[in-house]
Amino acid sequence: MPDIVLSEVESRRYLEKSGISMNRFVFVPGRDELIELTRTLRFPLVMKLISPKAVHKSDIGGVLLDIANENELLTGWDTLFANAAAHGIRPEDIEGINVQEQIRGVGEILIGLKRDATFGPVLVLGSGGILVELLKDVALGICPLNDNDIDRMLRKIKGSRLLEGYRGKTKGDMDALRVLIKTVSDMAMDMDDWQEIDLNPVLVGPEGQGAFAVDARVVIRRENG
Ligand code: ADP
Ligand code: MG
Repeated sequence: MPDIVLSEVESRRYLEKSGISMNRFVFVPGRDELIELTRTLRFPLVMKLISPKAVHKSDIGGVLLDIANENELLTGWDTLFANAAAHGIRPEDIEGINVQEQIRGVGEILIGLKRDATFGPVLVLGSGGILVELLKDVALGICPLNDNDIDRMLRKIKGSRLLEGYRGKTKGDMDALRVLIKTVSDMAMDMDDWQEIDLNPVLVGPEGQGAFAVDARVVIRRENG
């Protein structure tokens, strides 16, 4: 049996239990409930299409940023369905829309987990976005990671040095980022049903304002046979 790829919403529910820092979200199954269900969230919001046919949401226009008010929520809903249709995704293939608070980060990082046959859980830290492919700016560590491991990995990637206040740039909340990495590493040791996890991106806010995974993809392992 093949491994199971969880949607962003299912992945968030999986990770939430371990206390991994994520921005607040609400899953909305139908347009009728959109305004009511999202009332507790603070604008600006981000809307994301949740469909098994769109694992990479932004490839099909499935992510809308800067939603400022209720009216934009409603038009955003229609835009996401129209974008999906334009990519051959039918309404019945859409589970709903993930509405979440928008984070203003001073930088972005990716955190990945792989289960290595020899070493067990391995955590990958990388500069966020396209930079990671371009610069191969990554650091690896075998879980469980201690504070020294985490510092060494953060020092290794150039992208994280940009968060230390490089040339007058706003400093990122490195303490929150360290805690987040530690929590991910601990979770990796506690749970044994995952095969691969990607938090891409993790947005790091200014000092004192936290670090949050705003996207998540968990792959659940299926035993052979
Ligand atoms: P994809 O499935 O395409 O990876 P993401 O959920 O990662 O979709 O969203 C695409 C991009 O939108 C992210 O890389 C990030 O730059 C931005 N983004 C997503 N969610 C948020 C958020 N809650 N706050 C701020 N920016 C976000
Ligand atoms: Mg992503």
